[in-house]
Amino acid sequence: MKRLIELTRSERCKNCRICCRFCEEKPNLKPSGFSLKKTGEHYTCEAYDTEACRCAAYSRRPFDCEVYPFAIAKSEDRGCSLLVIDTLCPNYPEILIKLSGMDLSGLIVPSDSEIEWEESFVPLKVIAQNGKANDALNTLSPDAGFFFRSHFFNSGRLSAYGFPYHMIWTEITSYFWKIIDGSFCLFSRTGKDYSMPLPPLPYSLKACRESSRLLAVLNAANGLTIFNSSAETAGKAAKDGLTASASSEEFLYKSPALAELKGDNYKGARWLCNVFAKNAEITFVEYKSGDLEGCAAVLNSWYNHKFERTKFENELHLLKHTLKANRTALSIPDKLGLTGRVLRCGAEIAAYTFGTAISEDTFCVYFEIANPAFKGAGQYIFRELCRELIACKYINTMGHDGIEGLKTAKELYKPVEKLGVYTITI
Ligand code: SF4
Ligand code: SF4
Repeated sequence: MKRLIELTRSERCKNCRICCRFCEEKPNLKPSGFSLKKTGEHYTCEAYDTEACRCAAYSRRPFDCEVYPFAIAKSEDRGCSLLVIDTLCPNYPEILIKLSGMDLSGLIVPSDSEIEWEESFVPLKVIAQNGKANDALNTLSPDAGFFFRSHFFNSGRLSAYGFPYHMIWTEITSYFWKIIDGSFCLFSRTGKDYSMPLPPLPYSLKACRESSRLLAVLNAANGLTIFNSSAETAGKAAKDGLTASASSEEFLYKSPALAELKGDNYKGARWLCNVFAKNAEITFVEYKSGDLEGCAAVLNSWYNHKFERTKFENELHLLKHTLKANRTALSIPDKLGLTGRVLRCGAEIAAYTFGTAISEDTFCVYFEIANPAFKGAGQYIFRELCRELIACKYINTMGHDGIEGLKTAKELYKPVEKLGVYTITI
């Protein structure tokens, strides 16, 4: 825990009045061994020096105080013990950023410090399972990227292994998780319907069967649909007697080829990049929160252009959903772990793109939105992104959602592989 405790030290604590004061007389998260005294509207720890605004027992403060905003808590479904971070601490976003490069696999925590679940907690790591099965689920919030990545990073090259793939839909879909038979099971709910947007990881027939039983209770209907399985997982499921069928494909490219765009294969894309390159004052920079308005304007132009040309109901439906997902990505990219880049012509934004690394060697592009008034902006920003990611072996640009024009455009970039996406049903 020592490495984690170091992360909790912040200059912010000096002027923060959250720790050591409590709303209730017997709070869940309390300093063990110290009692609380009523001070005005609140309860304050007896060791808190209100005049000096500091802990008078700092060297002998309990473990709970030493590690806060980290804590060891029962999961919401009471199925496991978790290392969590409390989002009531204003320093938690910075701690999460610092955590992103850390490996918590060897973490040792005291077993007697477990507290009850609080809504403000975000899970970081499963410490132990209690083994008792129940039907409750745990909420997966957009703050839980570290937790998600600790289970799915390096698990495959499909876009669904990236946290943003799911969280960009939080305006219309809620996400949940549960550990079943030692596997991480992800569930989603749109309207009243629950399903599994990923297979249990690691794959387990027992986890599939238990998830099916659970969803039969939640959906009040039998059967389970598991989306976004890789060919490998689908193969295992088929061997176990489950039904696995191909549902779509994703395009995987080698980034050096897209960074260079050499040869006849890339003649069209190269020409469009050159058309855009004729604009003055071109910059390709990191997306910052100040770019939100400019990117929203690009998104509107893109949406209006597509809307006028969309003939089919399903494409229109997808377009509207993509608009919502883009708004989420533009609003909270850091939280979702999205890398954003912006292409400018002078002060005006011509295009933007968002994606994330889903494994050591694969980066997935979730969005690439260009203002149609800037010819070649989409091709140019994609090439610049690939140049930046040249050390990352592969780029996944996702599927085509049955849209012929999109399929043709993705084929033109000569994918090195088309990754099969399978649906498993019970
Ligand atoms: S809530 Fe966070 S920032 Fe505030 S005093 Fe406690 S640890 Fe420090
Ligand atoms: S022991 Fe110290 S750090 Fe812990 S709640 Fe009391 S005053 Fe605060």
